[in-house]
Amino acid sequence: MNKKNEIKGLTLTELENYFSSIGEKRFRASQVFNWLYNNLVTSFEDMGTIPKKLRRKLEKDFTVKTLTLKTVQSSTQSRTKKYLFSTKDNYSIETVLIPDSQRNTLCISTQVGCPLDCKFCATGIMGFKRNLTLSEIVDQYLLVASEVGKNVITNIVFMGMGEPLINFQNTLDAVGVFTGRHANRISRRRITVSTSGIPEKIIALADSPYRVKLALSLHSAFDDVRSKIMPINIKYPLNDVIEAIRYYGRITDTRVMFEYVMLKGVNDRDEDVKAITKLCRSLPSKINIIPFNSIAHMVQDGVSKELEPTSASDIKAFVQKLSDNNIVVVVRSTQGDDIAAACGQLATDELRVDN
Ligand code: SAH
Ligand code: SF4
Repeated sequence: MNKKNEIKGLTLTELENYFSSIGEKRFRASQVFNWLYNNLVTSFEDMGTIPKKLRRKLEKDFTVKTLTLKTVQSSTQSRTKKYLFSTKDNYSIETVLIPDSQRNTLCISTQVGCPLDCKFCATGIMGFKRNLTLSEIVDQYLLVASEVGKNVITNIVFMGMGEPLINFQNTLDAVGVFTGRHANRISRRRITVSTSGIPEKIIALADSPYRVKLALSLHSAFDDVRSKIMPINIKYPLNDVIEAIRYYGRITDTRVMFEYVMLKGVNDRDEDVKAITKLCRSLPSKINIIPFNSIAHMVQDGVSKELEPTSASDIKAFVQKLSDNNIVVVVRSTQGDDIAAACGQLATDELRVDN
């Protein structure tokens, strides 16, 4: 039996090449993309502008279906919704839609789990299974768009499960689809890739055609503290990461957003204010303060177990001190906490306490 490929796993150029290879016009690729990403059709049968005979050929060579939507959970505290999908090999992945007054942001996953083992993150604790395919990354967008309406999603953040820069090519190709002339042309200024900091990939992203906004999970401006809570810092120390970020900012003419999860006694001290201030003054940047979301739904050990959130009043005081130093600082509101859809709470699989 001939093994079918996933049509959404192809870039536009790859699909054009496929049509050339079977003696068809290259513009057919653009038509197919339009059906998939603009009209959100889920079968070749519905692709009205494609001749019937060619539709049969596509059916023989490709599948359209990738992910299956399992459940949608709605937060009672906010309008946040968490979508649980299953892959063909039966892994679960999560995607979160976060509406607010100005935008509707879709937070998508790039891996099943994550290999980087950050001590405060539920996805890190669940471990790493595999990278998501291009088809699985774009399908999160397509399936949510078909639920909520195709013009509803205005922004995309790669802040779900996994480290996007480890699944580099698929992340890049997905950005290509989202910003392409299909898929409502989401502007690259409305797409953010968040990374734990992999210098060579940050540089490669800057040198790619996809100059999206970049967020760096900073969490401490001190190497020893950062290494303790983010083991990746041992391989790529902060200096190297910041040099790459500086390059990214220069090439793309954007300012980086530092993400900073507030951990009591770990990174919320006066010396942290000083170190962040020094860092932020050294390059175009802003800092996003994130309350530590509980990972009590996971089995924890070692460093993870000891981590506690900074209190709301201490966060306020910390933010005030940064602000007094003229640092651009915003506090991220915790949305979807009640359905474990907030930052760093995404995890599926056997390591959940409630399983
Ligand atoms: N792997 C990427 C993107 C996914 S994580 C990265 O680490 O940047 C998205 C954001 O959620 C990161 O800033 C991450 O540090 C943060 N995060 C992880 N666990 C968290 C938790 N328990 N509470 C709040 N934010 C958390
Ligand atoms: Fe991976 Fe990001 Fe979680 Fe760290 S914070 S374990 S890099 S998903």
